[in-house]
Amino acid sequence: MIQSATKLPKIVLPRDTDYIGVYLTNRCFLTCAYCITNYNQQFINIKGFRELEPSEWIEALNRLELPPGIPLTFQGGEPFIYKGIWEILDNIRHKVDILTALPPAVTADKFKQLKSLDWNKRDAPYPTIRVSFHKDQNDYKQLIPRVKELQEFLKIGVFHIDHPAYPDTIHEIREYAKKHGVEFRTKVFLGEYQGKVYARYRYPDACGHKPIRGNVKCRNTVFPIGPNGMIYKCHSDLYAQRADQALGNITDPNLKLENKYRDCAYYGTCIPCDVKIKTNHLQMDGYTSVDIIFEED
Ligand code: SF4
Ligand code: SF4
Repeated sequence: MIQSATKLPKIVLPRDTDYIGVYLTNRCFLTCAYCITNYNQQFINIKGFRELEPSEWIEALNRLELPPGIPLTFQGGEPFIYKGIWEILDNIRHKVDILTALPPAVTADKFKQLKSLDWNKRDAPYPTIRVSFHKDQNDYKQLIPRVKELQEFLKIGVFHIDHPAYPDTIHEIREYAKKHGVEFRTKVFLGEYQGKVYARYRYPDACGHKPIRGNVKCRNTVFPIGPNGMIYKCHSDLYAQRADQALGNITDPNLKLENKYRDCAYYGTCIPCDVKIKTNHLQMDGYTSVDIIFEED
């Protein structure tokens, strides 16, 4: 694996860190109505959001000392429309998972031109490039043959939300993927459908889009990193761009990262992925990213 020289001091991430989400960009080539990045109807100020240069990302990400078995996860937005992603993949010293909807310009040739695919060679109980099919946005009959070509040399699979409104379509996709020998997995639907809430929430009133408590103490084991390098204590702060709540910038030489309880006045605007009961990076069920202490506790 390529070891690029780094001038910034190393940062050791806490050992109980479960996930590091690197938002290379918030831009996307699709326009899903349910896009989580706009969960509280206040995000995606695309023009106002500076994106780090690839060289800045490479130096900043390579300074991180990750806990064993924890990759970086490139996501967004659509990480592959950040033009510097190929340069980053060519120079990163970590394992990288990618969440993507696979824009048409992402071809087998593009990956084959990279100096190394070591970043993708990670022991994981799931495909580490996770291609999302979005109903009415992209076509699974085009996506699945493309993934079949890429899986010859990459750990890659197709994922879709297990939406209760169209089980027949999901069944068709599963059968189509099976026919092509492509791994297809469903993810838990986080919304409400016909009066039923589908996600299991550890804090059921946390996601009502409005702050509902004066102050709580919140501790997260996930680090979301925005396109400008700001590291946030949760996805709500990231999506709302609460710079005053950020833990610092990944390019800051004096940055230190800890998982500790921090004051928060935004409980009620939490994002489901932070407060739902899910599996951790080892696929063990029962994990929740945040632990929240309420005043009366
Ligand atoms: S593909 Fe993902 S990031 Fe892009 S619009 Fe759809 S939900 Fe949002
Ligand atoms: S309480 Fe909610 S909004 Fe506040 S830090 Fe925790 S997850 Fe984020």
